[in-house]
Amino acid sequence: MLCPVELIDRPVKFWRNIHGMNVVVCVKQIPDPADPGALDPETRTLKREVKLILDESDSYGVEMALQLVDAAGEGEVSLVSMAPNDERSGLATALAMGASSATLISDPCLVGSDSLTTAKLLSAAIAARNPDLVIAGSESSDGYTGTVPEQIAAVLGFPSVTAAKSITVNGEGIEVERQTDAGYDDVTCPMPCVVSVTAGVVEPRYPSFKGIMAAKSKPVDIKTAADLGFEPGSVGWAGAGQEIVDVAESPQREAGEIVEDDGEAYNRIVSFLEEHKVI
Ligand SMILES: Cc1cc2nc3c(=O)[nH]c(=O)nc-3n(C[C@H](O)[C@H](O)[C@H](O)COP(=O)(O)OP(=O)(O)OC[C@H]3O[C@@H](n4cnc5c(N)ncnc54)[C@H](O)[C@@H]3O)c2cc1C
Repeated sequence: MLCPVELIDRPVKFWRNIHGMNVVVCVKQIPDPADPGALDPETRTLKREVKLILDESDSYGVEMALQLVDAAGEGEVSLVSMAPNDERSGLATALAMGASSATLISDPCLVGSDSLTTAKLLSAAIAARNPDLVIAGSESSDGYTGTVPEQIAAVLGFPSVTAAKSITVNGEGIEVERQTDAGYDDVTCPMPCVVSVTAGVVEPRYPSFKGIMAAKSKPVDIKTAADLGFEPGSVGWAGAGQEIVDVAESPQREAGEIVEDDGEAYNRIVSFLEEHKVI
């Protein structure tokens, strides 16, 4: 059985899969952003008893993975997710898009897990799938620490590339167009590796009726913390190395300044943009 210490101290050996690309996509299941519910006043975390959906940020990763396996001609896309209450509605969407199976980590002792614990648990589930490539979103829509993919790479001892706008497999490695403020960098990386993809770079497919029906019989393997080699005291609130000390409403947007054009208004606009370092 894998345990988190073994994962850190002794990088697991991975072999390139001979049966095409084996891509694992991390998908977070989140409360619907249109009706996110409330914060728990004691823990200051989002209440997650509601039905969860596939985070839109991760639908891009699922689509990219499906396109890569299509291009390779052989292989499979599988999913890993950590969510409370055996929740699998979001997984069902990704399975209906075309992923073939999933691992769902769900256990009451995981409530309160911080991002590093989340990454360690996801890594244990990912390692068991022996991937060539791990894809994640750059940041989730609810927590958006933007740290989990790089923490997974560190735990697994894999190289990682962030902010990918495209991925191409080239022999034993990948070529990535990595988004920057000025455009993009061309980056090459050996496999196995972890890539976080930028939202909006591909058009996620809509699940077809056939896909939705097929998803109902695709395997979802449920794992507890103990199944993955974690003691209850090392996860959840008990194992969190971070604490949420305060949560505050974001300030209301202030009304903008209206500049009446007297023929010289452009000067005011230019100095406004300079003040805000836009130009
Ligand atoms: C003390 C503390 C307690 C917390 N308690 C809870 C809690 O009870 N419940 C809770 O949900 N959050 C809790 N959180 C928040 C929790 O740290 C993060 O939501 C979670 O670990 C992932 O971080 P993120 O959403 O910021 O991920 P990001 O790093 O922004 O996510 C980037 C990508 O990583 C992948 N990813 C992230 N999380 C998951 C996941 N769970 N499953 C699969 N893929 C994933 C996805 O591909 C995602 O697009 C707590 C945080 C702290 C500090």
